Amino acid sequence: MAILRVVTYPDPILKKKCLSVTEFNTELQTLLDDMLETMYADNGMGLAANQVAVSKRIFIMDENPATPNPIFFINPEIVFQSEELIEETEGCLSFPGIVVAIKRPQKVVVKAQDREGREFLCERENYPARCLLHEYDHLDGITFFDHLSALKRKMYEKKLLKYRQSTM
Ligand SMILES: [Zn+2]
Repeated sequence: MAILRVVTYPDPILKKKCLSVTEFNTELQTLLDDMLETMYADNGMGLAANQVAVSKRIFIMDENPATPNPIFFINPEIVFQSEELIEETEGCLSFPGIVVAIKRPQKVVVKAQDREGREFLCERENYPARCLLHEYDHLDGITFFDHLSALKRKMYEKKLLKYRQSTM
């Protein structure tokens, strides 16, 4: 396994819509293992493939990395999302140092394929639902900045720049 480089905003790959996975081969297995190691190394709860510069419809999630139980979502589709929205803060490995409050559905059901290509359904509420929707957005080239007003985005862009300068 290897730790991959996580691309950060405003890398253009984060804006691109990802392509479906058609082959469940060893190359895919290696990518999934590497994504997992990368996510754990960065203390993330979720990671999308385009965040490691692979423009494919894949994301991974682990709700409690203290007792690892990762879920691999390949070619995911949202089959249900609640009308009830909850506002809560979230972070993103591609936006280091930034935490933003966003309204998202309280509950979601996602259909996806696992690492062997078998279909499964995943139903989540509250924070894990938020994580699923955040990662799903990535595959369509949407980041949490796209959920903010132009004014707020500007404010956070400044923060991001400051954070970057402080860690250089
Ligand atoms: Zn993210």
